[in-house]
Amino acid sequence: MTKPIADYHMHTPLCGHAVGEPSEYARHAREVGLEEIGFSDHAPLVSHEDPSITMNIKQLPRYHRMIEEVQKKYTPLRIKIALEADFIPGYEKKTKAILKGYPYDYVIGSVHFINQWGFDDPSERERWQEKDINQVYHDYYDLLRKSAASGLFDIIGHADLVKKFGHRASEDMTEEVKKTAKVFKKAGVAVEINTAGLRKPVGEMYPAADCLKIYQAAGVPLTFGSDAHDPKDVGKDFDQAMTLASAVGYKEYLIFKQRKVERKVKI
Ligand code: ZN
Ligand code: FE
Ligand code: FE
Ligand code: ZN
Repeated sequence: MTKPIADYHMHTPLCGHAVGEPSEYARHAREVGLEEIGFSDHAPLVSHEDPSITMNIKQLPRYHRMIEEVQKKYTPLRIKIALEADFIPGYEKKTKAILKGYPYDYVIGSVHFINQWGFDDPSERERWQEKDINQVYHDYYDLLRKSAASGLFDIIGHADLVKKFGHRASEDMTEEVKKTAKVFKKAGVAVEINTAGLRKPVGEMYPAADCLKIYQAAGVPLTFGSDAHDPKDVGKDFDQAMTLASAVGYKEYLIFKQRKVERKVKI
């Protein structure tokens, strides 16, 4: 069992909260033995503007130029260009327009907002105290299903991000995850193993093994991502990620090109 060859989730300083130039991400990727990476910086927010969370629409040409430059310089490393786009209900048309603005290799759809509350944003963390945690989890899974069913995305990002700060539902969420897995399968989206959770208060990957097992059993395909916001995190903990994938029964993962599955890599 070798490490995943592709890291499909990383950022650039254009989002306002990542450090390091794309060239440094690419260099680190080669150092740790990756064959392929994909930049998936935060797509312009559709509901409001916040330069500390995402790029704005005027920065997209620069984003593309930056990535095209490293694509040429870092062969044989293959570098894909992607976005991580927020799912915000009611803004599907606007989101679609942004995603159609340029050719992308894949788009990661992520839920970071519940009714305009950035529940994973450290600056909005106190608001957890006024919440019913079970309700937050139900709302989160509902949004995950809607994001997959929207048809806007190829991969759903960090599919249990709601646990980031360690808040745990007292109710069993197995049925929520099972329902979500069915919707993912029907929508044809992949789920990612995102190692960033290991570096967060929760201290475990997204999604946790029991959730990932449910996605695997439902036939939802897989990708891997470090969610690096710093070049040193590219490919981080990919050995553990592979162990997890294999432990829950995954036999392969996806490589994307121009928003289609380019090939599958055996585990
Ligand atoms: Zn980010
Ligand atoms: Fe995210
Ligand atoms: Fe990310
Ligand atoms: Zn992310």
